[in-house]
This record gives sequence, structure tokens and C-alpha cells, in this order.
Amino acid sequence: TVRVTGLGRAFGDRPVLDGVDLEVAPGEIVAILGASGSGKSTLLRIVGGLDAPTAGTVTIDDHEVAGIDDRVAIGFQEPRLLPWRTVADNVAYGLPAGIAKDAGRARVAALLELVGLADFAGHRPRAISGGMAQRTSLARALARDPGVLLLDEPFGALDALTRMRMQDLLLGVLDTAPTTVLLVTHDVEEALQVADRVVLLGSDPDRAGARIQQIVTVPGERPRDRGSAELA
Ligand code: ATP
Ligand code: MG
Repeated sequence: TVRVTGLGRAFGDRPVLDGVDLEVAPGEIVAILGASGSGKSTLLRIVGGLDAPTAGTVTIDDHEVAGIDDRVAIGFQEPRLLPWRTVADNVAYGLPAGIAKDAGRARVAALLELVGLADFAGHRPRAISGGMAQRTSLARALARDPGVLLLDEPFGALDALTRMRMQDLLLGVLDTAPTTVLLVTHDVEEALQVADRVVLLGSDPDRAGARIQQIVTVPGERPRDRGSAELA
């Protein structure tokens, strides 16, 4: 369980987050919607231990998050691949510290297979498409075999069809390895398609910092059928 309690973050004297409370159950996918600048990335970075709150706490399975954590993986808004490394090396970069070499190599190969990039293992990021870069980035996040996966607009830069394929891919991957997911997105349809619950982050009229304004439970079982097979 990921538990965010009374979370606040101010930059200087400007509050960005103010009183965020959220509980995410194991294996649950929660989508976070909110206007640009409402603090979605800030919230994700704090849950991932990349930034510290100025108020409140984040715990994962009752242990407070204090810095970067092997249980958590983050997929950033931009793929952020190392340009001089191959696709396979970029994925390997996400492996947990201390994993045996052979086991690591096997996991990278399996992940590349999973995201459909087995044939591009030796390519440099410059030689692959934007969608492939996003898939590489997703594979890198999954390489950690994280209990908690944080995704910040992972498919934001993709065209609609590639985006839908990536959503299906993500749901397929999560089926094989149950993972708690916080997914930041601007796309309401994506949120409803992928998530169990959708959270809206925003400011009250009388406050500067954002908090959770509304939580919607998405009806139905995952993965939700939208007939995407005919698009494939
Ligand atoms: P977007 O949808 O555009 O990605 P967001 O909801 O992810 O926006 P954040 O990136 O979390 O928003 O930023 C929230 C606010 O906090 C913004 O006004 C931003 O300028 C400010 N902010 C974020 N990081 C810092 C920082 N390191 N120093 C100062 N201000 C910051
Ligand atoms: Mg952001």
C-alpha cells in the first residue's frame, strides 16, 4: 500500500501541494489528472523519493519513503535515454543494484521481447522512433521489477494509435507482474481506460497549493474492452 498523508510541498514561499491524502492498494492503478502546473510531477517525484515534502509523509508498506528506493521505479515525462548507449544497455540501466549478471541479461532480453524491441537491442536511441524510445523507457522502469511503478505522462508524445497500443501493452505487462501504479496523464480517456481509480489534483479557490479534489472509481474489470484488437 502506498499511503500519502497530509502531503505538502512549497517552493520558497509558494505552496504547490497542500494537504494531499491518497491511499493506493497493492496492484491498483491510479491515474492522476490535473492542470499543467498543478503539481502532478512534484507529487510523483516525492512518492519516488526524488524530492522531499515540506509537510506530511509518504509510506510504502508502512515504511517511510526517504530517498531513492529499489521498490519504486519512475518513468519520466521524456524518455531520457542515454544517447551513446544501446537500447539494451538503457534497459539494463534500470536493473536493481546487485542483480547477478546472467539474471540481469535474461531480464533485459525478456523485457525487450515484451515491448517488441528485441530486434532493436543494439540500436542507439537516435536510430529508433519516438514510440520505441517510450517503450525503451517503460522497459527500463520495469527492469527494476518494482512493487510500485510511477509513470509521468509516459505516452504523452505519441500519436493516438501508438498511444493506444502502449496502453494495452502496459496493461498486459501489469497482468504478468502485479504492480501498484500511479500514472500521471492529461488524457481523460487514457485515465478511464487504464486506471481503477482516477484522482483529480487541483487548488481550492481560497488556497494556492493543490490537493485532491475528487476521486472517481472506474467501473468494470481491467483490462477494459474497447475493441482495440481491430486496430492492431
Ligand atoms: P505539467 O502538467 O505541465 O507537467 P505538473 O502538474 O506536473 O505540470 P509540476 O511540474 O509538478 O506540475 O510543477 C508544479 C509547480 O511547481 C509549477 O508551478 C512549477 O513551476 C513548480 N516547481 C516544480 N519544481 C520546482 C522546483 N524544483 N523549483 C521551483 N519550482 C518548482
Ligand atoms: Mg508534469
